Amino acid sequence: MALDLDAIIAEIADGMAKVEHRGRVADYIPELAKVDPAYFGMAVATADGRMLCGGHATTPFSIQSISKVFALTLALGKVGDQLWNRVGREPSGNAFNSIVQLEHEQGIPRNPFINAGAIVVADVNLGGHQPRVAIGELLRFVRYLSGDDGIAINEAVAASETMTGFRNMALANYMRAFGNIHHAPELVLGSYFHQCAIEMDCRQLALAGRYLMLDGRHPGGGRVVSPRRARRINALMLTCGHYDASGDFAFRVGIPGKSGVGGGILAIVPGRASIAVWSPGLNASGNSQLGTRALEELAQRTGWSVFSPPPD
Ligand code: GLU
Repeated sequence: MALDLDAIIAEIADGMAKVEHRGRVADYIPELAKVDPAYFGMAVATADGRMLCGGHATTPFSIQSISKVFALTLALGKVGDQLWNRVGREPSGNAFNSIVQLEHEQGIPRNPFINAGAIVVADVNLGGHQPRVAIGELLRFVRYLSGDDGIAINEAVAASETMTGFRNMALANYMRAFGNIHHAPELVLGSYFHQCAIEMDCRQLALAGRYLMLDGRHPGGGRVVSPRRARRINALMLTCGHYDASGDFAFRVGIPGKSGVGGGILAIVPGRASIAVWSPGLNASGNSQLGTRALEELAQRTGWSVFSPPPD
């Protein structure tokens, strides 16, 4: 029986609008603390070219760590598998901004999706340029992926994190001491904070993720990455995309996903759908509480999972 995706998404969005306990909005970046937890949005881009939306799917939000997926894709394009000499590929089991593991592991972060790993990726993408050059390149890339030139950076969010990002500064300086950051830490962080401050809505984000559902192809023609690279990025999203709650996300939802403290999640069903959800309230692990719940419900109702044969 054909899925009535429109009805499923509308019902999920309606259900989420009524939930009372919506988690806590991130407040360690002051600008993010201003966002109303009442928002919930969802967008699904399907492999056959449809776009289905529910709730506040066209309200822009701060993509934060979801940017790490796009930054990783760019860095792999620049240095290929050499990246893995500087960043690992294992789940961390620690919080997103943890510093303890770095000492044991000689300044090599566990994976590119924890903050330390993403800061190394930002260092690679800087490639001797000024932060504005690197961030311009990332912005162009995200616009190309989503086919939308309106995507921009929220400067107030970038400034807010620059004022308060002491932990990220500590991580960058610490890795610099191990020789794993090659540029001045303030330049790397300038670039990192701006990439996190990119604003997109669910619709734009679901469009930007399509190359990962299409084995690396851009739906408009041509290739963004090789099939092998697309599969590997999906594998990292599944194992590392939700920090120390990645196992729980795989258990509950069963598809690759990357969350951000702005409350967004990009989730990929290979061959079927690129999904973006957004609800600003976070659970204790720093992942969107209702976003995770909505994806769990969507996966259950569609049968979408990387652990089972495709539904009819
Ligand atoms: N800009 C945030 C930070 O570095 C990103 C964290 C996240 O989205 O999980 O703290």
